[in-house]
Amino acid sequence: MKIHAWQISKPGGPEALEWSEREIEPQANDVLVRHTAIGVNFIDTYFRKGLYPAPLPIGIGAEGAGIVEAVGSGVTEFSVGDRVGYCGGTPGSYSEARFIDEASLVRLPDAINEEVSAACLLKGLTVAYLIFKTFPLNASHTALFHAAAGGVGLIFCQWAKSLGVRIIGTAGSEEKAALAYENGCDEVILYREQDVARRVRELTDGRGVDVAYDAVGKDTFEGTLGSLAPRGLFVSFGNASGPPPAVNALDLMSRGSLFFTRTSLMHYTSTRAELLALSRKLFEAIEHGTVKIHINHRYRLADAPQVHRDLEARRTTGSVIMVP
Ligand code: NDP
Repeated sequence: MKIHAWQISKPGGPEALEWSEREIEPQANDVLVRHTAIGVNFIDTYFRKGLYPAPLPIGIGAEGAGIVEAVGSGVTEFSVGDRVGYCGGTPGSYSEARFIDEASLVRLPDAINEEVSAACLLKGLTVAYLIFKTFPLNASHTALFHAAAGGVGLIFCQWAKSLGVRIIGTAGSEEKAALAYENGCDEVILYREQDVARRVRELTDGRGVDVAYDAVGKDTFEGTLGSLAPRGLFVSFGNASGPPPAVNALDLMSRGSLFFTRTSLMHYTSTRAELLALSRKLFEAIEHGTVKIHINHRYRLADAPQVHRDLEARRTTGSVIMVP
């Protein structure tokens, strides 16, 4: 079957995205999903740039939602007409339709429409593992979260707030700071103007935070390290400004026996049971109103290069989706 999709045959800027037509041979466990919404995530830019190397040419896009149009002979859980969402697996969601292994799919409950799924599954599952698995948060904790007005950020702020966590966010502009406050931040540091570590110390009576979430990477690494309380945890989970430097073990000791982890959603959803359990938690949080998904930007699938330009120029807040 012929599939129309954005792909990359050579890493580069947004212009490296090519609209292509490819012949795909489905496997027995594959489901054909006709996309009605496509999630845009910062990780897509890492694949495009070659920061996350992959055999080329490769499709692009980690997240999608839509309707099952056909199922392979080995598919057991899904039937034609099901509404599904997915994230992760082989990139390829920037497409009108795609084949994907049924093990990656999640059935959508009635309350979750496909646009919401595309806007929240990857980002929301990330928040779910960060706050329930990596470091189980509770009301005794103070947390630092960088880029709090971003896609992952707005979900984190609302969900962590509902657990009683004191949240110190960072943001790149006054407008983004206002959005971070509205979504649960107790304090917001304008990190392009202010010294993050110094401000965090002021806000915590010199103690620092119990846990710091840093997906900005290169530009924030030092400030994050300097913001932690003794025995605090540094959670590095992204590279929006470039990859962070190597961690110096002796530095972790001298700053107060700190912990450091570099996480990936893949390792927190490596079994089907984990994927389904975290998805259920996320969908319930949305259904109960604990978390509201902000779809702040909708684009056409044809505009994928512009979407990447806007994302990388820090022009977006909350979730970004594309519609075929
Ligand atoms: P966002 O919507 O948060 O966009 C990224 C934000 O990072 C920007 O809006 C900007 O906010 C901030 N930023 C800081 N420096 C830069 C820079 N130099 N260039 C561009 N942006 C910058 O994206 P997502 O919600 O999709 O993802 C957030 C982060 O989480 C990403 O780093 C992503 O890779 C990571 N992630 C990691 C996962 C994991 O499991 N490891 C899973 C999901 C996401 P501002 O203007 O406020 O500075």
